[in-house]
Amino acid sequence: MIAQYDVVVVGAGPIGGYLSRRFCEHGHSVLLIEEHSEVGRPFQCAGLVNPGAMSAVGLEQTILSGIWGARIHSPSGTAVEIGDPSRIRTWSVCRKLFDEAIVLQAINNGAKFLLSSKPTSAKVHAEHVSLIVETPDGDLQVNAKLLCGADGAHSWVRRKFRMGNPKEQMIGFQVEVTGYHGEDGKLDMYTGSEYSPGFFAWAIPSGETTRIGTWTKADLLNGRSCEDLLSKLQSSNPWSARFAQCNEIGRYCGPIPSGLVKRPLIERVALFGDAAGLCKPTTGGGIGPGIKQVDLLVPELSLALNEGNLSVKRMLAISRLLNDMRSNQRRKKALRNAFLTESTDHELDEIFQIWSKPEVIDLINEVGDIDNPIPLGIQMLREIPEFRKLAGRAAMAVLWG
Ligand SMILES: Cc1cc2nc3c(=O)[nH]c(=O)nc-3n(C[C@H](O)[C@H](O)[C@H](O)COP(=O)(O)OP(=O)(O)OC[C@H]3O[C@@H](n4cnc5c(N)ncnc54)[C@H](O)[C@@H]3O)c2cc1C
Repeated sequence: MIAQYDVVVVGAGPIGGYLSRRFCEHGHSVLLIEEHSEVGRPFQCAGLVNPGAMSAVGLEQTILSGIWGARIHSPSGTAVEIGDPSRIRTWSVCRKLFDEAIVLQAINNGAKFLLSSKPTSAKVHAEHVSLIVETPDGDLQVNAKLLCGADGAHSWVRRKFRMGNPKEQMIGFQVEVTGYHGEDGKLDMYTGSEYSPGFFAWAIPSGETTRIGTWTKADLLNGRSCEDLLSKLQSSNPWSARFAQCNEIGRYCGPIPSGLVKRPLIERVALFGDAAGLCKPTTGGGIGPGIKQVDLLVPELSLALNEGNLSVKRMLAISRLLNDMRSNQRRKKALRNAFLTESTDHELDEIFQIWSKPEVIDLINEVGDIDNPIPLGIQMLREIPEFRKLAGRAAMAVLWG
């Protein structure tokens, strides 16, 4: 027997779960396949979910802490404090519960779900995609009108159909600890080539624990590992007392793919979330952009399914809906490069001297948005003369990119 579905979704992470739910809500039959024996393990995530994504999924029960502010540190120790307790900027969630609850929403809406299963072959035909799925009960033959890869940074679907590669692949490393001396509702960000070359390290309150991590690119490591960077952050810096009582209870390491792949949609096949390279270049967050992508594409893909037209031409037309996301990612990357990645520690210290001025903090509090730093970046480049000099190398890309 060959099982027939409208849509097969490979990967039951947050994006595959949400995608399955949304296709079910549009009346399609969905098979969701997960290679692991449980949902939400292993995960590599600091657990931050922005308010927009949270209201789309409605999973407030998975929230551990609300984050309303940040203390951002320059390499030599200047701290800039931003935020307003009356405005939550992002939520810190339990990723295990979050992923499970999203997949449950898909199942409750009618999706069929297979654990410990993965596709071993996939072929596109004129009317369908044929798949062999390895399951604990043996191989299953499946035909689907549409195959979706929501199978993460190393996506099998993406590689199988040669759909391109994310432009950047960062590495994230994180430990979960008790005993960190932070402030309720505030995350700490640490910059500097010793702790996070070109990027930043973080300490994020998450209920009873704190997630302390760093991210960077391989070519900036100069022979060090991410673990070395985190040890350095915890042991020798102006804030080492905050880490003195830390007791590690878990560690995670994983890739952060950023830069939408060249061909996210081809005939009868589409990529979503990390598989498509959607993480934000400024924060590494992938849940918000993935959910946005699902909301953007599912209505059009559903229409195409109903009309029986998932041709190359139609899929290309649908993929154009992602053009804004693509150029937004480029501009955010330019902004990140200008203010962070291409700055020396000395330049970063100069930037922080300017950021710590009360009028600039006011501007950050007023216009700053973790999700969309472009308006703030543009305003800073326009209004603060010192920044025009420092960020000149990317100002045009940010303004016109
Ligand atoms: C250290 C670190 C911290 C991060 N912090 C944050 C954060 O705070 N906020 C945020 O938004 N993002 C964060 N991210 C990124 C975030 O984890 C990802 O963007 C997010 O998990 C992407 O969801 P996804 O569903 O696309 O992919 P994934 O979560 O990777 O899910 C993919 C699923 O597919 C399954 N799978 C893979 N291959 C197959 C196969 N062949 N067959 C069947 N199943 C398969 C996997 O087992 C997995 O369950 C962080 C990443 C790292 C590394």
